[in-house]
Amino acid sequence: PGQCRQSMQIENSICDYDAVEKVNDEMRVQLRAIVQQKFFRYYKLNLYESCPFWSENHLCMNPDCGVALVDEQNIPQEWTSAALGALTSPKNGEHFQPFKSCNLKDQDFCEVDDEASSEGVYVDLIANPERFTGYAGPSAAKVWGAIYNENCFNVAQRMQMDSDCEQCSLDRESEAEELKEELQTSALTGFSMAQNPASIPLVPSEPAHAHDRQHNHHSKTKTTTSEDMSKAFDPVSPLAAGAAQDDEICLEKRVFYRMISGLHASISIHICDEYLNQSTGVWGPNLDCFVSRVGAHPDRLENIYFDYAILVRAVTKLSGYLQDYEFCTGNSEEDAGVKVMVDRLIETATRSPAIFDEKAMFVGPEAQALKMEFRDHFRNITKIVSCVGCEKCRLWGKVQTSGLGTALKVLFSYNDEHLNPIKNPNLLQRTEIVALFNTFNRVSESVESIARFRTLYMSTLGSS
Ligand code: FAD
Repeated sequence: PGQCRQSMQIENSICDYDAVEKVNDEMRVQLRAIVQQKFFRYYKLNLYESCPFWSENHLCMNPDCGVALVDEQNIPQEWTSAALGALTSPKNGEHFQPFKSCNLKDQDFCEVDDEASSEGVYVDLIANPERFTGYAGPSAAKVWGAIYNENCFNVAQRMQMDSDCEQCSLDRESEAEELKEELQTSALTGFSMAQNPASIPLVPSEPAHAHDRQHNHHSKTKTTTSEDMSKAFDPVSPLAAGAAQDDEICLEKRVFYRMISGLHASISIHICDEYLNQSTGVWGPNLDCFVSRVGAHPDRLENIYFDYAILVRAVTKLSGYLQDYEFCTGNSEEDAGVKVMVDRLIETATRSPAIFDEKAMFVGPEAQALKMEFRDHFRNITKIVSCVGCEKCRLWGKVQTSGLGTALKVLFSYNDEHLNPIKNPNLLQRTEIVALFNTFNRVSESVESIARFRTLYMSTLGSS
C-alpha cells in the first residue's frame, strides 16, 4: 500500500487495498439492504432473444441454469408496459417521468432493454442468485472468446464473428499474455509464484509496479527517448491518448481489457464462492476453484478492484441525480426509505479510496472517434451475452454488462450539469439504475469474498 502518484491514477485506481476493503465492509451492509428493495430487485429484460452471432440452442440441461420469472401482476402497477406505454413526454421536465421508452441513444454503452416494451420478462434478482450452475465447455468458451475479441481496437472494418478477426484475436491473446507475464514476473508481492507455490498472491499487485509495467512494455515495443516515453504513457498527460494510439496498446484499450477481465474474474469468484460439490450435493466456498481461476492471477485480482473503482466513481458521480430521482414503486413510504438508503451508500462511497479519474480518458485529437469505438465494442459485448447458453448465467451476464455499460455512460457521456433528473428526466431508465446498483453489489461482494478466501487460504497453510 502506498500513495498513488497523480499520473498513475487511471490505470492504478487503487492505492491502498486495505483501506478499500475497510470501506467496502461498510458498503456491503448498505448495498445488501438496497438490492433487497422492490425497486432494485425486479429487473425486466429480454432473456430469450436469440444469439445474433451464431447458432446457440440455449439448452443448458442443468436445473441450476433455470430462472424463475415473476408474473407482471406482482410487480408495481407503475412499471407495467401498459402503464409505461401510456405515458407521454413531459414538457420541460414539468412532471417527472423516469421510464420513458427509449431506443439505443448515442450516449448508451449498452443495449438497454426497454421497460415499456411488451417484450421481456420480469425476474426477481434475489430469488435467482448468481452462482455455480455447471455451465462450461465449448459454449461458455466461445462466448468468453467473442467477448475478449471485442478488445480489438483500431480495426477499420467491424469484425465478423469467427472469421475475419483471426489476427486481431492473436494480437489480443499475445497482449494479454504479455500483460500477465509482466505482472507475474514483476516483484508484485515480494515473491515469485513459480518458485514458491505456497505463496499464491491473493492480493492485487502494487500500483508502482504497474507503472513500471507500462514502461517495460513500451521499451519492448519501440525505441524512444525517456521524454517520449513519459508523454506517451502518462495517462493524465493531454498527449496520452493521441500518442498512445500509435502504440500497440493505448490506454483506452487497456482499460477496456481490464474491465472485461475484472467482470470475468468477479463472475468466477461467485461461482467459486457458491459452488456445488457434485458428489456431496453441498453448496459452499471452493478454495481450489478460487485459487486456480482468480487467486493465482494478480492481474485478475487487480482487475476486479479496477471495476470496483469504476463503479464507485459512477455511483458517486450520480449523487445529485439520485437525490432528485423518484424511486417509484407505488408505496411512498418505501420509496422515501430507498432514497435515504441510497444517500447513505453514496456518502460511504465518497470515502472509498478507490479512485477512477474518467477525465484522463478520451483526450487528444482522436478522442471522439476512440470513444465511439470504445462504446460500439462495449455495446457488442452486451449483445454477445445473448449467446450464453445457460439462462441464469445469461441473466447475470446481461445485468452486469448493462451495469458496467451504465457506469460508462455516466462517466463518459455526461458532465455533472447534465446529470439532473428534473432538467433531463430521461437520462437513465429504471433498468439502468437497477443494473448499475446490482453490478456494484456483485463486484463489491467479490471484493469481500477475496478477503474471505485469503483468510481461508492462510488457515489451510497453517494447518498443513
Ligand atoms: P473460463 O472462466 O471459461 O475462462 C476461459 C479462459 O479465459 C481461461 O482458460 C483463461 O485463459 C481466461 N481467463 C479466465 N479468467 C480470466 C480473467 N479474469 N481475465 C482474463 N482471462 C481470463 N458459470 C456458472 O457456473 N455460473 C454463472 O453464473 C456463469 N455465468 C457466466 C456468464 C457469462 C457471460 C459466461 C460467458 C459464462 C458464465 N459461466 C457461468 C461459465 C463460467 O464463466 C466458465 O466459463 C466455466 O465455469 C468454465 O470455466 P473455465 O475454468 O473453463 O474457464
